[in-house]
Amino acid sequence: MKESEELTHERERMVENQIRSRGIKDERVLEAMATIPRHVFVPSENRHLAYADAPLPIGHRQTISQPFIVALMTELLDLDGDETVLEVGTGSGYQAAILGRLAKRVYSLERIPELAEHARGILRALKVDNVEVLVADGSQGLPEHAPFEGIMVTAAAPRVPVPLKEQLADGGRLVLPVGEQAGQILECWERQGDDFRRDRVAPVAFVPLVGEHGWDSDERPFSWWL
Ligand code: SAH
Repeated sequence: MKESEELTHERERMVENQIRSRGIKDERVLEAMATIPRHVFVPSENRHLAYADAPLPIGHRQTISQPFIVALMTELLDLDGDETVLEVGTGSGYQAAILGRLAKRVYSLERIPELAEHARGILRALKVDNVEVLVADGSQGLPEHAPFEGIMVTAAAPRVPVPLKEQLADGGRLVLPVGEQAGQILECWERQGDDFRRDRVAPVAFVPLVGEHGWDSDERPFSWWL
């Protein structure tokens, strides 16, 4: 079998065994996960693990999330294709590419310029043309392009950043991990006018959101992600 066919099979198995079997039902999300080549976003030394049921290091002490968590957070946004979405924490660019397949327009913010540049290169190579990666402190959102029908934060916040609530469109959803640096709860907020309803979805472990409305610094010991 050709390598590309083998990777396609691995990806289909990932969708069935890790994602559909754990309760993700949105067919558009499942299709996006079966289509976007996760291995392209994983550094070459770990590429053989690209379809494993785990997060993986991407350099700069950051990680690409476990596929199931990507699917879960994406399903929570409940996208139908017309939305403008904000992602905070571009990292590898994988989640941004998934969002790009499911929304009209995606802005993705990353604080580490090298990661942003690398992600841009991959997205360009994959011809993903509705995702824009910007270097910024995403805890402050992106007021010039607000409001957003969906906001996803892929780094752990000590509390919900107020600017992100303010930049959410009426009826929009904000999905993010909230808690300590060592562990968080995945929360899904839905805006109805000036009311915000919160669902607590699942325990998760993300790298910290570092910024004005996040943590002052990354306090994890150096060995944390090894
Ligand atoms: N969504 C990514 C995984 C993100 S890991 C993927 O699919 O690969 C979390 C990312 O958030 C890291 O790259 C980290 O540098 C970034 N980050 C942390 N604090 C941030 C902030 N305030 N603004 C923007 N990005 C931030």
